[in-house]
Amino acid sequence: MNTTPLTHEEIRNYHPQENCLEGKVILVTGAGDGIGRVASLNYARYGATVLLLGKTLSKLEYVYDEIESFGGKQPLMLPMNLESASFEAMQDMAYKIKEEFGQIDGILHNAGILGDLDSLEDYDTDTFQEVMHVNFTATFMLTQALFDLLKTADNASVVFTTSGAGREPRGNWGAYALSKHAVEGLCTMLTAENVDSNLRFNCINPGATRTAMRAKASPKEDPMSLLPPEDIMQGYICLMTEDSSQVKGQTVDLQPKR
Ligand code: NDP
Repeated sequence: MNTTPLTHEEIRNYHPQENCLEGKVILVTGAGDGIGRVASLNYARYGATVLLLGKTLSKLEYVYDEIESFGGKQPLMLPMNLESASFEAMQDMAYKIKEEFGQIDGILHNAGILGDLDSLEDYDTDTFQEVMHVNFTATFMLTQALFDLLKTADNASVVFTTSGAGREPRGNWGAYALSKHAVEGLCTMLTAENVDSNLRFNCINPGATRTAMRAKASPKEDPMSLLPPEDIMQGYICLMTEDSSQVKGQTVDLQPKR
C-alpha cells in the first residue's frame, strides 16, 4: 500500500500496472453510456469485477457484452432508475451484492443528468427536483445503502463526479451546478466523518469531454475539439487502486484548463 498521497498531476498521468484492479469489485453508476461506460470497460480490463448500474437495460447489456468479448471478469448488471428507486431497493441491491461477492471495493458515482440551462429565477421546479435527486440525493442514498459493504473491504474507494459548474459560480447552469456543489459537500463531510476508517472519498472532475451530455450542454461546440472519455481514464483507474490509498477528500480535475 502506498503511504504517501499522490499529487493530482500523478493521478492524471497514472500508468496502471496490468491487473492493478485484480480482485476488486467496483460498482459504476451510469455504466451504460458516456464516461461511465468507458470507465467500466477500463476497470474490467485491469482485472476488476464491475457492477454495471444504469437506467437503460439494453445499454448495460451492450457494455456487458463488450467486457465479455475481451475476456474480462463476468460483470453484473444492476438496472436501476436513480430518479425513482427507493432506499429499500438500494438496500436489496446491497444484500444481493453481499451474497454474491461478499464486499465492494469501489463505487464510481457517475450517473447524472443536465436538466435545463436556465436562471434560478426561471428554473422549472419539477426539473430542479429531478436533477437534484438523480445527481445528489440518490448518490447519498446509494452510498448509505452500501456503507456496511464498503467497510468490509480492506481499503474501499468512493469516487463522486463533480464538474467545473460545481466548483465555481456558473450562472444559468441551474440545478446541475447546485447538485454538483452538493456532491462536493457530501464528499467533504463523509471524509470528515471517516478520518480513521478504511474508506476514502474523493471527487473527480472529468472536464469537458466528448459525450451526449456535453453535446446537450454546448450544442455549438465542435465535439472533435474535446477529448473522448478514453483519453481521461488514468485518473479514474488510479483512484480505484491501492496506489491512491492516501488520497482522501480531494477533488481531482482531470483537465485543469477545461
Ligand atoms: P452521459 O449523458 O453520456 O451519461 C450519463 C449516464 O448517466 C448514462 O449512462 C445514463 O443512463 C445515466 N443516468 C442518467 N439518468 C439516470 C437515472 N435516472 N438512473 C440511472 N442512470 C442514469 O453523461 P457523461 O458521461 O458526460 O457524464 C458522466 C458524469 O460526468 C456526469 O455525472 C456528469 O455530470 C459528469 N461530467 C461530465 C462532463 C462532460 O463534459 N461530459 C463534464 C463534467 C462532469 P441512460 O443512458 O440509460 O439514461
